[in-house]
Amino acid sequence: MDFSYDAVVIGGAFSGASTALLLKRRRPATRVLIIEKEAEFDRKVGESTTEVSSCFLTKVLGISTWLGHHQLAKQGLRMWFARTPGEKFEDCAEVGARYNARLSGFQVDRATLDEHLLALAVAEGCELWRPAKIAALELGGAGRNVLSVRVGEETRKVQAKWVVDASGRAAVIARKLELLRPLTEHPVNALWARFTGVKDWDGAELRAKFPAWAQATATSRAWATNHLMGLGWWTWIIPLKGGDYSIGLVYDTRLFTPPAGATIGERLGAHFQTHPVGREILGDAQPVAGDQRAFSSLAYVSERVMGDGWAMAGDAAGFIDPLYSPGLDFCAFTAHGAQSMIARALDGEDPAAGVEKYNARFSFCYRAWFDAVYRDKYFYMGDAELMAAAFLLDIALYHLGPVRQVYSDPATQFDFFPFDGKPGRVVAAFMRFYNRRLAALARRKIAAGTYGAGNAQWRLLVGGFLPDGTSGRLLLRGLAWWARAEWRGLFLAPKVGAPTPVLAPVEPAEV
Ligand SMILES: Cc1cc2nc3c(=O)[nH]c(=O)nc-3n(C[C@H](O)[C@H](O)[C@H](O)COP(=O)(O)OP(=O)(O)OC[C@H]3O[C@@H](n4cnc5c(N)ncnc54)[C@H](O)[C@@H]3O)c2cc1C
Repeated sequence: MDFSYDAVVIGGAFSGASTALLLKRRRPATRVLIIEKEAEFDRKVGESTTEVSSCFLTKVLGISTWLGHHQLAKQGLRMWFARTPGEKFEDCAEVGARYNARLSGFQVDRATLDEHLLALAVAEGCELWRPAKIAALELGGAGRNVLSVRVGEETRKVQAKWVVDASGRAAVIARKLELLRPLTEHPVNALWARFTGVKDWDGAELRAKFPAWAQATATSRAWATNHLMGLGWWTWIIPLKGGDYSIGLVYDTRLFTPPAGATIGERLGAHFQTHPVGREILGDAQPVAGDQRAFSSLAYVSERVMGDGWAMAGDAAGFIDPLYSPGLDFCAFTAHGAQSMIARALDGEDPAAGVEKYNARFSFCYRAWFDAVYRDKYFYMGDAELMAAAFLLDIALYHLGPVRQVYSDPATQFDFFPFDGKPGRVVAAFMRFYNRRLAALARRKIAAGTYGAGNAQWRLLVGGFLPDGTSGRLLLRGLAWWARAEWRGLFLAPKVGAPTPVLAPVEPAEV
């Protein structure tokens, strides 16, 4: 059987469903087919949204009401540090918000969110084949693409003017065209599982045991994305609707090896024992059988993300690192960018020049984001003084840049990547500089044996970031933290036999 569509989207999860939905809304006459390989979605990572991805969900896709009924409202992110595994729970240094967040954020169960977005795309007129597999793909240029798709026992031949690859890490087009490149400078792996029985951060038990600790914040800690931090690694603890928690560990293989264990859940459990906050909060927690996963080499990118008659959206185009939860931001920008380009091409515009510019802008954004925020961050993320400086600087600039941009006009501003244009280049250079300095200071602290020495008995609790002067003031505070770290760094001298920084597991093992 032969079929013909204006756009065929490979993958029907967050990026694929969003691209299809936006295209259909913009050009109702467009014939859009979504091909999804799984009969139903299961839980996956990508559970904590940011201000940018939440703006996309609420103001662009328009699903605030559904989110309110079916997911949890997120209360920012928090970081926890300790000097040694034996630190007292209430003494651990804490960095985060004092009050509830003022911009929307959500903790989402991706199985239900992705099902909802896909159902919305279908309800608004997109066609869906599911479960269906691509058997062959010929990219012959706009209007001349041919796919062979297995749907049950049947093989269907499909002509597509445009093909959108939203297949996630499967990256169907990037692999086919040999465009996929691992980001070897960033050797980062992850393990995660869902747990039951995680203690209530705001519950009566912890309030009774640690009254001053409980009283320190007005916001709920339980609805935040909580991170435990160490040299070369960080973890996430994300609450999900219904009571389970998503728990994960991300680590730089140059610096850290997680504990061994028969299952991923066991290994995570052992790792959380090395941090006083993990020991307290996850003391009685149990991993959910079968809901445990691992990825290695998280960071990769496609050399080009758009071509003649094809475009990539979401993880199919690239991924850097989940710290600060930027994954769905990238999905939002690339899904919006892909549908815009396709809509304009279907309207008769010649896409050639636009496609080349788009590729150049995406490559710059990816590189700039990596150098500005993630390059060698794992060297300093276990030191609370250095990480507090980065927290203030990174998040203030995120609010003054991308958050302000997308909220200023959500309908159009997702077509622009972070760091686009001259001001973006200047900000990228500044961020690259302080990020490099913080990593250099961490190395000095390690050599001097003082890394993590200040990881206790203080809290940095901010009033909250907003896309206005509030973040300007937090940026200044970040500069002050950084300047203080530089000043102290001047007096650090390498010490022979300096102890290994805190919190490495006792018996490292192979992944
Ligand atoms: C450890 C870790 C933690 C993360 N945490 C966060 C976080 O807290 N917040 C955040 O914003 N982001 C996070 N991310 C990133 C986030 O998970 C991804 O950016 C996001 O899930 C990508 O969505 P997607 O729709 O592009 O791809 P996916 O969600 O991977 O969906 C791809 C879809 O394509 C389908 N598919 C694949 N191949 C084919 C094929 N050949 N034919 C048909 N269909 C196909 C799949 O079945 C799937 O449904 C995290 C990532 C990692 C690795």
